[in-house]
Amino acid sequence: QGQVIGGEHVDDEAYQEEHEKSKAKSAHKKLLADRKTLPVYSYRESLLKAVEDHQVIIIVGETGSGKTTQIPQYLHEAGYTKRGMIGCTQPRRVAAMSVAARVSQEMGVKLGHEVGYSIRFEDCTSDKTVLKYMTDGMLLREFLSEPNLKSYSVVMVDEAHERTLTTDILFSLVKDVARHRPDLKLLISSATLDAEKFRHYFGSDMIFEIPGRQFPVEINYTKAPEVDYLDAAIVTALQIHVTQPPGDGDILVFLTGQEEIETAEEILKHRTRRLGSKIAELILCPIYANLPTEIQAKIFLPTPVGARKVVLATNIAETSLTIDGIKYVIDPGYVKLKSYNPRTGMESLHVTPISKASANQRAGRSGRTGPGKCFRLYTAYNYSSDLDDSTVPEIKRTNLANVVLCLKSLGIPDLLNFDFMDRPPDEALLKALELLYALGALNKHGELTRVGRKMAEFPLDPMLSKMIVASDKYRCSDEIISIAAMLSTGSSIFYRPKDKRVHADDARSNFHMGNVGDHIALLKVYNSWKDTNFSTQWCYENYVQVRSMKRARDIRDQLKGLLERVEIELTSNPDDLEAIKKAIASGYFPHSAKLQMYGSYRSVKHPQTVVHIHPSSGLAQVLPRWVIYHELVETSKGYMRQVSEIKPEWLVEIAPHYYQLKDVEDLASKKMPRGRGRAELRSVKPTTVLMRG
Ligand code: ADP
Ligand code: MG
Repeated sequence: QGQVIGGEHVDDEAYQEEHEKSKAKSAHKKLLADRKTLPVYSYRESLLKAVEDHQVIIIVGETGSGKTTQIPQYLHEAGYTKRGMIGCTQPRRVAAMSVAARVSQEMGVKLGHEVGYSIRFEDCTSDKTVLKYMTDGMLLREFLSEPNLKSYSVVMVDEAHERTLTTDILFSLVKDVARHRPDLKLLISSATLDAEKFRHYFGSDMIFEIPGRQFPVEINYTKAPEVDYLDAAIVTALQIHVTQPPGDGDILVFLTGQEEIETAEEILKHRTRRLGSKIAELILCPIYANLPTEIQAKIFLPTPVGARKVVLATNIAETSLTIDGIKYVIDPGYVKLKSYNPRTGMESLHVTPISKASANQRAGRSGRTGPGKCFRLYTAYNYSSDLDDSTVPEIKRTNLANVVLCLKSLGIPDLLNFDFMDRPPDEALLKALELLYALGALNKHGELTRVGRKMAEFPLDPMLSKMIVASDKYRCSDEIISIAAMLSTGSSIFYRPKDKRVHADDARSNFHMGNVGDHIALLKVYNSWKDTNFSTQWCYENYVQVRSMKRARDIRDQLKGLLERVEIELTSNPDDLEAIKKAIASGYFPHSAKLQMYGSYRSVKHPQTVVHIHPSSGLAQVLPRWVIYHELVETSKGYMRQVSEIKPEWLVEIAPHYYQLKDVEDLASKKMPRGRGRAELRSVKPTTVLMRG
């Protein structure tokens, strides 16, 4: 009998395998069939003809028409990859990864083989790769090693309408390469109709339009402005879910970032649980830049019968990713943008109202598969009179230090005459040059120094790269790359579940023992994890995010490789916290601040800027007199995130051309002796503060 069972078993396995194979086959067939239903498909031949006849083509097509996933495949099928790769840039990493995954499925190849992606700190390509999706930042970096982009036959700068800083810089660089390489095909693709500007800039005579398929969308406004848009968004989503039959379509909510999305997720979970079986199943799908890959795929899975999907997305779902089956869009009208004050050189993240163009793109997402509805959580009056027509290109509102360093290392000497599509403010350019000079990356003549050359090797912000380069001098590069990696994960390291706040805070405070500051605390977290041989259990016990840590480890490995490349020795100096902090300050000295009365801080270089230590910092209750910080985040107030205490004399020692003695002389110390910050704050009752205004 055993034999029979065994025989059956074998047969069964073979059958299973056969079954799986045929299932995969039919799934693949369906994918191929789906490809033919996309709007771009009927233009395949004319598009190929256009690419054959013209070197530079501006492509305009509605989101979801198939530009990103199909056009590179058409060109591949037509043989363009025989002469080199097809590169397609995306402003967002998630888009690059997810689109590459989709295209590899459609082509029936393993991701990373013929179809791959390249994003910062993650290269998923091989020698086989012919279709390469990448972030615009990665293509920019490729110019450093291959200025003529010889390994590419086609470059497609996608999502051109987004006008990210890097995309704008790429415009100029690829335009220049195309002039020298008549064999290189250049595709500039965008979702909006503002193609004329692109055509003019590129001197192209070809605009290729792909008419989209758009169903009517009903727009609803609120009668009065919402006080709490997050709550309003959640209530609206639940209302739709409860009142509309589940089969009729999914919901897409636009939020501003990971934290907000996680909050919304938690609240929605809680409220739907309370409603229990009275309502149909609601599937929550978060999507934001640092979402782990495994979960990213979930948003594209078809919604099961009888359930409804709620996609909680950042701006990424505006044009970069198309999710099928959306019928309802909820648009609170906000986006998180970087803003920059060229006068002070201070950069921060802000939640700001979107533009009309964005609002219309968002609404459009509901009408792809049938008539849709968009709920704007602002008034019709807000829309018509408060929103700008379009978003200001990033180049006009950001810190340029990073790209200036990159352009300098590409050997472009005269940035004031660089061929920008839209010129950045001269002031911002000068500020960037000034900062790079202060960091020692440029000399007096604006030429790249040896330090600058080393800094440019790191795919990091110049201040972070400088910190790493400076660690050589303080003999602590081992510690500094751990800190740099921990600062670069893009997601939070600690987590604080609602029901376990006390435990989480306890675990966290262990790393902050001795008020070492946030940077050193990050180092301690990394090293403790390493000491457990990278144990996942340890992460759980310490309320540390496993994923962030794994990412930090990956980034650290790469930084270690880059150290070798710029000939910086890996040296460890774990007990000399002063040396480590001086290395940090060597990069972050422009971010110094000094304690004021009542616990606020003023930027040392720009005393008119008042900031606070973020409540999540280990130093939030300690209030050291002098600090440096990693970044500034603007919510209700300006908050410094990742803060360390420094000695003021370090600033003059480290950056004598940036700080003079008078900047750091402790004038206020007569009124407020050293180290009294905390006591001072405690002795002041909030009411007195309020009364004094
Ligand atoms: P466009 O670039 O014109 O906005 P895309 O080529 O990105 O259009 O999308 C075409 C189609 O491919 C859409 O219907 C979208 O749903 C589907 N698609 C794109 N990426 C994925 C993915 N990662 N998983 C599943 N479907 C996808
Ligand atoms: Mg696209």
